[in-house]
Amino acid sequence: MMGSSHAASGALAGAGAAALLAPAVSDGGLFDLAAGVLVGAGAALLPDLDHPQSTATRSQGPLTRLAHAGVARASRAVFLRTRTGADLGGHDRDGVHRHLSHTPLVALAVGAAVAVSGLWWPLLAAVLWFTVSLGLRGLGQCLGRGETRRTLRSWPAVSALAAGTAALLVWGGVSAPFTGVLVAAGMVVHVLGDALTRAGVPLLWPVVHRGRRWWMVRAPLTFATGDGWQERAVRWACLAGTVPVALLTLAA
Ligand SMILES: [Zn+2]
Repeated sequence: MMGSSHAASGALAGAGAAALLAPAVSDGGLFDLAAGVLVGAGAALLPDLDHPQSTATRSQGPLTRLAHAGVARASRAVFLRTRTGADLGGHDRDGVHRHLSHTPLVALAVGAAVAVSGLWWPLLAAVLWFTVSLGLRGLGQCLGRGETRRTLRSWPAVSALAAGTAALLVWGGVSAPFTGVLVAAGMVVHVLGDALTRAGVPLLWPVVHRGRRWWMVRAPLTFATGDGWQERAVRWACLAGTVPVALLTLAA
């Protein structure tokens, strides 16, 4: 799916996480809800760091291009080491795009790493800043019009807005474990979203299914990635669903 659709699904998942987890690791207040929507939306763009032209890869210039190179290299290495004789590779056949970063297991591992490393507040602030900046870009592609859209495409404007938001979220007490849950939830809904498209995703990895460890799972009804009516319907359903979930969180 496109970045805007992934961001919309991540916003819904993040708002849902804030509603469900209050008060276990989140107090369900305004700061947690804002983190839910923005971090969820941003984390839902992270798996596409394995693609050279994705919003995540282009978001912070050389820094995120370096991250892309690392993700691509790790993905290919893991694919080559773990493939069975029947595995042909999925989307691009070389074990990079829609491979390692598109597995639920890696989403959970990244979420756990954020939950632990985020206990040191500067690291938590950095994670919040990066994911919020991605969330603003992704949601800006869905909702922004005119000047707002231009602002949310501008690197200095988005980075500064994300820095201010991250500082507020840290000040508001958004916790590291809650941020870890949001990152994992955003990445998992990305994978599920891509399972709605024809190329599929390795949802089961590392479990071997029908002789393949990189079995590409796709929904019974799929559509092509792009701005077709099916993907637009998913995007707007997610955005519309975020509103009642957010209200539910605030009322809890
Ligand atoms: Zn993807």
